[in-house]
Amino acid sequence: MNVPLLDLKAQYKTLKNELNQAILNVAESQYFILGPEVQKLEESIAGYIGAKKTIGVSSGTDALLIALMAINIKPGDEVIVPTFSFFATAGVVSRLNAIPVFVDIDPVTFNIDPAKIEDKITGKTKAIIPVHLYGQSADMNPIIEIAKKHNLKVIEDGAQAIGVQYKDGKHVGTIGDIGCFSFFPSKNLGGYGDGGMVAAMDEELGEKLRILRVHGGKPKYYHSMIGGNFRLDAIQAAVLNVKLPHLDSWSAKRRENAKLYTKLFTEAGLSEEEGKTEFDDNNKVLLPKAIYKNVILSGVEESHSLTNYHIYNQYVIRVNKRDDLRAFLKENGIATEIYYPVSFHKQECFQDLQSSQDNYPVADFAADHSLALPVYPELSTEQIEYVVEKIKEFIG
Ligand SMILES: *Cc1c(COP(=O)(O)O)cnc(C)c1O
Repeated sequence: MNVPLLDLKAQYKTLKNELNQAILNVAESQYFILGPEVQKLEESIAGYIGAKKTIGVSSGTDALLIALMAINIKPGDEVIVPTFSFFATAGVVSRLNAIPVFVDIDPVTFNIDPAKIEDKITGKTKAIIPVHLYGQSADMNPIIEIAKKHNLKVIEDGAQAIGVQYKDGKHVGTIGDIGCFSFFPSKNLGGYGDGGMVAAMDEELGEKLRILRVHGGKPKYYHSMIGGNFRLDAIQAAVLNVKLPHLDSWSAKRRENAKLYTKLFTEAGLSEEEGKTEFDDNNKVLLPKAIYKNVILSGVEESHSLTNYHIYNQYVIRVNKRDDLRAFLKENGIATEIYYPVSFHKQECFQDLQSSQDNYPVADFAADHSLALPVYPELSTEQIEYVVEKIKEFIG
């Protein structure tokens, strides 16, 4: 049996006529830069996540970059980021000649560990970028509290998490000062090329982002600030306008697939105790956990009405002998991926940074043992059963 990591053609088939028509409509209109499709998408996403202002931009990376520009990050400023994320989260900080400062992650959620942030704050710290990794919210309440206490801005990297709710029901991207999203084709809401979005709850900051998107000129050709070309293409917006109404059902399907994986691993006796940061030789599987599904309130687990507590952009297990397992699965037709094999503190380009000298045991464990399994909406039950069966066979 063949199990790809992602099958974009399966999704395309279900919406082919509408998508093709939307692209043709843009061609007919010859309106390629910003315009009605981009505005429609901005308004729909603002409504969907409950943001005051949303601005379509050229990619998730540019969303992060323009966000840092909007809060005036300058050379030498320090910005706190989790050491375990996609490269862009830290890369954008360095591109402004500011300094990314790394923090270890939480062993259950893979997200920045709020308890380890304050140690890294100095007189130069200006902002924190929590990442909602794999489609689950970072623990935002303590992060916002720390930011307030030290007068820092919070830029949310929600590239993998559009539609995700934090435990109070608020959407990620609307909790900090600016939320950033990506429409890279492999994200839950993917375009037909690069694209992204920034969201703000503050009108003035939203307006500033809008001006920075077009080189910082307002009125056109008159510049009180320096921006860039960060525009979202009309064709991408047209595709995304067709797809957005389906996002929640696709994310629900991913949750069902994740639930089935967890059930099958558990029934097979393969589920490892949560919170581990090292393995012995018994070789079980550490399963991802949706911690905001049942919110822990004052020590008591209460059920919550959150629907999008986790959107499983990725279903990531941690296993011993990860690379051998990956090769074995590949031989058996199952594609997997490692998100991410090298944390920021171990990247060659960051070796001159002070914080790269610190210890990050939880991120190191994740980098060495994480494996993303196929979890896309169109997977069949048989495919998921096959994946678990093969992993069971390997662990034997
Ligand atoms: C995908 C991603 C980005 C970058 O988005 P692009 O649209 O590819 O530029 C940033 N951060 C995280 C966590 C991502 O997963």
